[in-house]
Amino acid sequence: MTQPPVCDYEGSDYQSSFWDRGDRAYEDGVEAVALKRLLPKAGRLMLELGAGTGRNTPRYVGFERVVLVDYSRTQLQQAQARLGNSGRYVFVAADIYRLPFVDGVFDAATMIRTLHHMADAPKALSQIKQALQPGATFILEFANKRNLKSILRYWTGRQTWSPFTPEPVEFAALNFDFHPQTVFGWLDELGFKRERILTVSHFRMEFLKRTLPASLLARMDGFFQPTGAWFQLTPSVFVKATAVGGTKREIPADPRLFFKCPACGYSPLDNTRDDQLTCPSCGKKWGFKDGIYDFREAIE
Ligand SMILES: [Zn+2]
Repeated sequence: MTQPPVCDYEGSDYQSSFWDRGDRAYEDGVEAVALKRLLPKAGRLMLELGAGTGRNTPRYVGFERVVLVDYSRTQLQQAQARLGNSGRYVFVAADIYRLPFVDGVFDAATMIRTLHHMADAPKALSQIKQALQPGATFILEFANKRNLKSILRYWTGRQTWSPFTPEPVEFAALNFDFHPQTVFGWLDELGFKRERILTVSHFRMEFLKRTLPASLLARMDGFFQPTGAWFQLTPSVFVKATAVGGTKREIPADPRLFFKCPACGYSPLDNTRDDQLTCPSCGKKWGFKDGIYDFREAIE
């Protein structure tokens, strides 16, 4: 068991049961619109946290390379099947609270539909900040507790927790909704400069999704997304921020040089063996099998 506990999608059919059934075309469409607005046109090395099966990964078109991180190896295997093993993608199973990357190596990062599984969100965000170069772009999506639906439920007595208080609400085990001001405060404290806020999923309502085509609803949502600059009442919020300060590392050509030992922080790791990376400092060995680096537990 890791500390804090992580939400593990190992062996889950999340992609097929949630995304591919067809009734999530709207949710997928609005994310595509938001990402198109927020993503830098070009970049070198993108860190995608909570990448899952790589549903959003093909949208990072301007980047030379994308490192996909997920706690679940089986989700990453599905991502591999979707994206291929061309070398443009690097697949990493890791614990977000102990990220295995050298400081300041990425020029961009995204974390979408992932923060809502974080029992210790500020700790996860600080790990991301460390891995980013000064000036790097960070795109964060989070679930907003102060959304219109939860406000109405609260006012009509159908929900006990207040949508207006700053603390996260755990509405199901390891599923958290956050107050926007709390998330913005964490980003500010960690050295992220907020550039843009988009509100997303204005029309996540069953009767609309049943009656209107998803593509039309997604376009309508896109029209309203920029109002996030003034107020946030949607269930999903996207923030674009820039990392201020920190280390800047030359981006190595060899992906094995992206890593540090997640146990002791040492880099570079010894890569003389094809199936593992060894930490010269603490001696821990980290596996590399079928194209996936595994930093969750040391082999020995
Ligand atoms: Zn070590």
